[in-house]
Parts: sequence; C-alpha cells; structure tokens
Amino acid sequence: MEQYENLLIESIYYAETSVLATINADFTYIEGAPWYELYQYKYDQSFWRLDRFDKLQEQFFLKLPTRVDWTNYNSQDLQIELLVKTRGLTTIPCIWQGCAKPTLQGLAFCERHAYVEMGIRK
Ligand SMILES: [Zn+2]
Repeated sequence: MEQYENLLIESIYYAETSVLATINADFTYIEGAPWYELYQYKYDQSFWRLDRFDKLQEQFFLKLPTRVDWTNYNSQDLQIELLVKTRGLTTIPCIWQGCAKPTLQGLAFCERHAYVEMGIRK
C-alpha cells in the first residue's frame, strides 16, 4: 500500500509550501504550457493544473474535470469559492452600487466584486 503525503480533498488550493510538497511526492508531471503545468494525481489518476510561478500573481493548484483542453479550463468560480472559504463572510453588505451581498472578512466587497472588480485573489 502506497503512502500519500497529504490527501487532497478540495478541488482548489493556493500553491503553498505544503501543497508543493504534496505535488512533489504524490503527482506525476505530465506536460507544461506557457502559464501552467499539468500533473496527474497518483492517488486517483485525476488531472490537476498548477499555475507557473509569477511573483505578481497568486499561484493556484486545481483539479481539472478532464485533461481535454486543460489549458483553457476556466477556474474563476473555483478561485472565488476558495477566496470565500479562506476569508470568510461578514454580515455587512457589500458597498458596490446595487449589491447587498455580505462582504468578505477584511474587505468592503462581496466575493464577486472583490474578485472581479478589485482583483483580490486571497
Ligand atoms: Zn458585491
């Protein structure tokens, strides 16, 4: 029975040190593209995409529904989900005109306005 570093149960992670260690231990590198690298999880053979390192951008590691067209997979919804999960929500309404959704902790905006309009990723 093979031992796995740290079973990944979510569909998206920030590519932090612990996640990079898991990639190193439990994933097989498949191929690279200008912005991304494709990996396959040894545990369940699923395909995952790692953002190439960029000091100006948050780096994500996420599970792909399929390997087909993997560089074009739109991960915005997953990234927004991760943003909400990481920060948490308040009961204060978003200050964006016409928006009354709850704000993210530490911000004056809801997750969609923080992500889309303010460029917040974490
Ligand atoms: Zn809003």
